[in-house]
Amino acid sequence: MTDFDWQDYAAETQAIRAGYQRSHEDENSIPIFATSSYVFESAEQAALRFTGKQPGNVYSRFTNPTVSAFQTRLALLEQGESCLAFSSGMAAIMAVGMALLKSGDHVVCSRSVFGNTVLTFQNYFGKFGVSTDFVSLTDPAAWEAAIKPNTRFLFLETPSNPMIEIADIQALADIAHRHDCLLIVDNCFCTPILQKPLLLGADLVVHSATKFIDGHGRCVGGAVVGSEELIDKQIYPYLRTGGACMSPFNAWAFLSGLETLALRMQAHCDSAFELAKWLEKQPAVAKVHYPGLASHAQHELAKRQQSHFGAVVSFELKGGKDQAWRLIDATRMLSITANLGDVKTSITHPATTTHGRLSAEARAEAGINDNLVRISVGLENIEDIKTDLLRGL
Ligand SMILES: *Cc1c(COP(=O)(O)O)cnc(C)c1O
Repeated sequence: MTDFDWQDYAAETQAIRAGYQRSHEDENSIPIFATSSYVFESAEQAALRFTGKQPGNVYSRFTNPTVSAFQTRLALLEQGESCLAFSSGMAAIMAVGMALLKSGDHVVCSRSVFGNTVLTFQNYFGKFGVSTDFVSLTDPAAWEAAIKPNTRFLFLETPSNPMIEIADIQALADIAHRHDCLLIVDNCFCTPILQKPLLLGADLVVHSATKFIDGHGRCVGGAVVGSEELIDKQIYPYLRTGGACMSPFNAWAFLSGLETLALRMQAHCDSAFELAKWLEKQPAVAKVHYPGLASHAQHELAKRQQSHFGAVVSFELKGGKDQAWRLIDATRMLSITANLGDVKTSITHPATTTHGRLSAEARAEAGINDNLVRISVGLENIEDIKTDLLRGL
């Protein structure tokens, strides 16, 4: 439906209808284009397609109609000009670095990012002469102080995992731009339904589509959204060559995820908020980390920056590791898994799983104590989730 200007439609409509033109078969659902290559009408057309002088598909490492539909929808939802899909969230982050960094460059990164993101910058880009400094997510002055003349970009996730701290995206975008740097935001926890970092001044948004975008724990995938200049001119040539493209099968699953994303996020967040308030009242609980609570240090910022408070709640029990493990092991229904963003509620002990490879000092500095439990609240009935937790509380 190329005659539609999808920009004029609301997010829920874009997520269901944009990005795909029905074929001659008149299908009502986007097909999985299981094809590695495409056929040209003539040698001349092949030549034009290969040079990019004529738009159109060439090879599915470059473009694929099912993947393109996903990219178009996610770009619209994030209100970015362009989007590229990748085989995983980490592949998307790797592509941003490979495309934008060169030896001698510097990166400022939040200390509270996904563990593999730390390793990507520290171990892999570090190996090729890119240095990275890690700073506190919530301290804009520390970000500004860490910027050097060779800093290329600032990288963060908000809310952070597992402490659910909030960064001021607009303030950090202003700092980045004052120093001629880019701001890159991993928007995995909020999705564009809760927060649109590009509208707050970020230059690129990265996603692990594996989490809320899929929403059903089925597929691994990732994406990057931003301006045509950054996405099409700078990152796309790397995707074409580097090869970490999204499979059309996974794109099809993510498309169905996007169709219900707005509804699911609302329900996830409503339940997480209720659970956070309920946990705060439990005698066995020492502290709850959730931006919807007035006790949260960035509660006002979260209200301003996000349309809801998110689906992930973490809390500290009175006691230590034994109490945390006992609570986790007493559940019967919740999934004991470090994954998040699923319709199934998951429960995890960050200190011995996702953040177990950090040194004890690094964990203490990040506030990840042995008594901390993290829950990604799913879409089961909230009373059943409470009942399951009550067994161990
Ligand atoms: C899971 C996750 C990633 C990595 O995504 P994959 O799809 O697992 O490669 C990156 N950032 C955040 C915030 C994540 O939760």
